[in-house]
Amino acid sequence: MAGNLWACLDNQAVIKRTLNPLSPSLSSQAITDEVRALLETWEREHQGKRAALKWVPGHAGVAGNEEADRLAGAAARLFPPFNCTVTVAAGSRWARRMVEKDFKQWWGAQKQNPEKMGLPEPSTGSLTKMSRLCWGRLLAARSHHGDFEKYHKAWGHPEAERRCQCGARKTPIHTFTCQRLPGAHSLRYYRGRPMDLESLITTKEGEECIKVWEDKYFKN
Ligand SMILES: [Zn+2]
Repeated sequence: MAGNLWACLDNQAVIKRTLNPLSPSLSSQAITDEVRALLETWEREHQGKRAALKWVPGHAGVAGNEEADRLAGAAARLFPPFNCTVTVAAGSRWARRMVEKDFKQWWGAQKQNPEKMGLPEPSTGSLTKMSRLCWGRLLAARSHHGDFEKYHKAWGHPEAERRCQCGARKTPIHTFTCQRLPGAHSLRYYRGRPMDLESLITTKEGEECIKVWEDKYFKN
């Protein structure tokens, strides 16, 4: 019957990275993922037992650790890295991919409020090129934090105007449906196809539609 499994490491940063799947680790993500998976599999196969990483001081004469150090050194000399040059462009592309991957993992682990609308697939790529004013409207509509009736009620703003000048209640969606908005009808179509309000507010296509609308009615 096996006891608990302790894998001893003398590098605290590596331990932290391995234990936290969301921590940024550009160069060794695949290895830390693999170690984490191995520890989890071992625990599943040995019910009631723990598999964990433990820190031990490096170069302090801990027998197993000194031996592991010696073997790692020998292995590194045995298999010199090949093809280890990389162009700046390829390196930047790779770093961007890693950041994007970490960001998506982090985003996926965040608690989503079911009352709020869904959001487009997270990306670290460039933002749709519309004005800060439009982005402000859109982010307010997505987050429900803005000049909205419900928001003022929730935060107790008795002096805030809760109705739009058109007479309608100020809702996140009303931001994009108000009849006073120039060209409001063009927010209901994108590239000849009808655009529903939720898609307008929560998708990348919606962002494009808002950009086209802004370019048409607010520039020049
Ligand atoms: Zn209105």
